[in-house]
Amino acid sequence: MNHFQRKRGVLHAEDIPLEELANAYGTPLYVYSTATLRRHWAVLEGALRGIPHLTCYAVKANSNLAVLSLFARLGAGFDIVSGGELYRVLKAGGDPRKVVYSGVGKRDDEIGFALKRGVKVVDIESAEELARVSIVARRLKRRAPVALRVNPAVDPKTHPYISTGLKESKFGVGADEARRLYALAAKDPGLEIKGVAMHIGSQITDVSPFLDAIERVLAMVKDLEAQGIRIGHLDVGGGLGIQYQDEEPPHPDAYGKAVKNALRRFDGEVLLEPGRVLVGNAGVLVTRVLYRKKNGRREFVVVDAAMTDLVRPALYGAHHAIEPVAPPAREEMVCDVVGPVCESSDFLARKERLPAVQGGDLLCVRSAGAYGFAMSSNYNSRPRAAEVLVDGDTAHLARERETVADLVRGEMARPPGRRFGARKRREIG
Ligand SMILES: *Cc1c(COP(=O)(O)O)cnc(C)c1O
Repeated sequence: MNHFQRKRGVLHAEDIPLEELANAYGTPLYVYSTATLRRHWAVLEGALRGIPHLTCYAVKANSNLAVLSLFARLGAGFDIVSGGELYRVLKAGGDPRKVVYSGVGKRDDEIGFALKRGVKVVDIESAEELARVSIVARRLKRRAPVALRVNPAVDPKTHPYISTGLKESKFGVGADEARRLYALAAKDPGLEIKGVAMHIGSQITDVSPFLDAIERVLAMVKDLEAQGIRIGHLDVGGGLGIQYQDEEPPHPDAYGKAVKNALRRFDGEVLLEPGRVLVGNAGVLVTRVLYRKKNGRREFVVVDAAMTDLVRPALYGAHHAIEPVAPPAREEMVCDVVGPVCESSDFLARKERLPAVQGGDLLCVRSAGAYGFAMSSNYNSRPRAAEVLVDGDTAHLARERETVADLVRGEMARPPGRRFGARKRREIG
């Protein structure tokens, strides 16, 4: 369910024709729907009603301040993976006490920043990290709230790049290692055990891997509690998939209810870290056709958006539905939709059947709200797109289009020099 629908043949974002937005803000343009964001949030929250829980939106999926601010006002917590994301959450008015700090490679300065701001929990992913967090906490005369991210060793059956709970992935620790680390943490004056966490992957289209993983983690929780280690929360991570093409992911309501049911005997708070499912279908990328061309038998539509704006097709072979913004022509064409970047992986779609389009037409790339702008780059010195948040008949410019001056911020054509090791050289001389 989303609010990008045709009215009298013309594609709208809520009550505004996408063409008017493209004319006002230029292309490529990310457009998000407030109504869709609110609806996704409400469906998931509704499914979890009745159990103590905190839904922590996974910031990396779409970290625009306006999106974060909307979720903060809806009462969301946040799942972050860097100090930069914590900065964004705070800027957007998010409550640090509702922040879960995940990630396999946290630096001391990031850990210190998170502890000083009072995050809810730091999810630990290795023995060495556990020791570092304790050192940083004691240096700050604090106790760090921690949970171990356990690898339940289930196969989420998704793309290998976004499978994170396999036995040999870089994320989390195995169950045996987790037990050992809990015992260490329980004795460590710099640490306070809060809970246990898992996150098995992304774009998962079946509930069974989630339920298998929860079952395994629950077994571990039982053992730990038998040893006198209190597990106050169980974080089931994120990863619920959305429909891009012909996937049939569980409805968020069904997923939420299944999680609730699997955890009905857990005596504590349930945490969730949904990213994609909240924002994916709440955003589109609008791009303008520059040229059509034909090489051999292959037909190309060259557009002004590129892999620098939406890397998912190039990175994961992901499929995004593409359609004309104007009423679609009856005539069809099979084409590759490609961007201006000098890489053959720079495509938004390949062998896509589209209504015929020509130079100047606008295309709408659907389901671009998650891992779209957030993964964009300046490769080929392309300023990044603008982002607009629509609410009914009102558009809010949530991020200005970058300018060419933004591209060189911090660079110098003739940077002043700084000599290193000068004294030593002088001694030798
Ligand atoms: C990326 C990530 C999420 C969100 O994943 P989605 O597939 O977008 O729901 C949640 N938790 C952690 C630890 C993550 O790294």
